Amino acid sequence: MIYNDSDTIVAPATATGGALCLIRISGGQAIAIVDDIFCGKQPLSLVGSHRAVYGNIVENGRVIDDVVVTIFKAPHTYTGEDIVEISAHGSRYIINRIISAITSRGARMAEAGEFTRRAFLAGRLDLSQAEAVADIIASESQASHAIASTQMRGGYSDELKAMRHELVNLCSLLELELDFSEEDVEFADRSQLNSLVKALSNKVDSLRQSFALGNVLKEGVTVAIVGAPNVGKSTLLNRLAGEERAMVSDIAGTTRDTIEVVTNIDGVIFRFIDTAGLHATDDRLEQMGIERTREAISKARIILVMREAFTTDSDATLLDFSPNEQQRVYHVINKIDLCNNYQAETTDDTLLYISAKSGIGIEELKERLTEGLDLAAAYRGDTIVSSQRHYQALTQASESLQATLSAIKRDTSADLLSEEIRQVMHHIGTITGEISSDDILHNIFSKFCIGK
Ligand code: GDP
Ligand code: MG
Repeated sequence: MIYNDSDTIVAPATATGGALCLIRISGGQAIAIVDDIFCGKQPLSLVGSHRAVYGNIVENGRVIDDVVVTIFKAPHTYTGEDIVEISAHGSRYIINRIISAITSRGARMAEAGEFTRRAFLAGRLDLSQAEAVADIIASESQASHAIASTQMRGGYSDELKAMRHELVNLCSLLELELDFSEEDVEFADRSQLNSLVKALSNKVDSLRQSFALGNVLKEGVTVAIVGAPNVGKSTLLNRLAGEERAMVSDIAGTTRDTIEVVTNIDGVIFRFIDTAGLHATDDRLEQMGIERTREAISKARIILVMREAFTTDSDATLLDFSPNEQQRVYHVINKIDLCNNYQAETTDDTLLYISAKSGIGIEELKERLTEGLDLAAAYRGDTIVSSQRHYQALTQASESLQATLSAIKRDTSADLLSEEIRQVMHHIGTITGEISSDDILHNIFSKFCIGK
């Protein structure tokens, strides 16, 4: 797609089906074009910036709708250009008529994310902030909203900017040495340089580490519920989701396929996957279900291994899988309502006694699920990296910082050192968009919705 960034663009900013619809127009011709179809007390060209006026949209002498038009004049607008917003009634017919009246007067339909792309190009936001706009719109939980909100407000950008500033200083000191290369001077004291690069490397690594949290808070925590047939997996899923989602029956092997249920616990999105029971079977359909179960286990962050209260550990259907280090496994003993003198006394905090049917122990289970997630960090406004793209850039920056450290150790020349540091700056610059290409921008903004 080839953009012409000087075109005037138009798009509906709201989904159809609501009572009202917002149509947004941005660009040099925005005010003149809408003025041509607007009939109010005064022409729009005379309306002050950030003011709303009431009137009619009229084309060929016919009133299409009565609307409120808001005028935003460059440069203090979202895109940095003149923007006109039309609030019309939310009929698909009205929206189409107004938009085609506008495009026939020289505007074109906006591409996905084009308003925000212009905001970035005009320097109103940096690239990581622009990306956070999409995350804000997609946020489904308090935690993912908190992360996106910090990023959109520029908390992350400030941290990156500070880092970049230090790197620029380092580079200029090193490059100063080059100018005096005959005289063998060292402006950048090597041990100081070493500790500065180390400090930066620690900062980058702590940002990288925050991705583990950021990623799950943004995408949701995947929890696989596994166990032998009939232990109560589907019942637990329904209890957690607060609705009847999975089929429950006392015929073993009822859940042949995996079912995913998304639910919000304490501001975090969880994706529970109800699986087919794991056990030996000749039934082909069931075998396929079991294959999917193994897949679900490999993708999950938390695995709930379920058993019934009155079975023994020697149960032949016990699971054989080994979790990786990022996975947490809890052993959930279900149906304790059937035990007469049950006592939930245990020092093993990976062991939980519940009744999926009556609800005993479910609150404790929910608490366990959110433990280990540093939600306070998200709500406090700490910088938490939640974008795969940023994580990759930080990983590359970290590698370059390591290379710089070993170059310092080897007593490498100033020009090679400054070259390494420039690499670090490059990778950090791709996050904020100081370094960007049409491909990168297209990749990012094409995932936005139209009208944003
Ligand atoms: P799944 O095969 O593991 O998905 O098991 P289901 O959820 O389909 O449950 C199998 C049977 O156990 C059903 O008859 C459930 O009503 C019953 N069940 C599940 N949880 C409990 C529980 O906590 N207590 C009792 N008494 N029965 C339960
Ligand atoms: Mg089931």
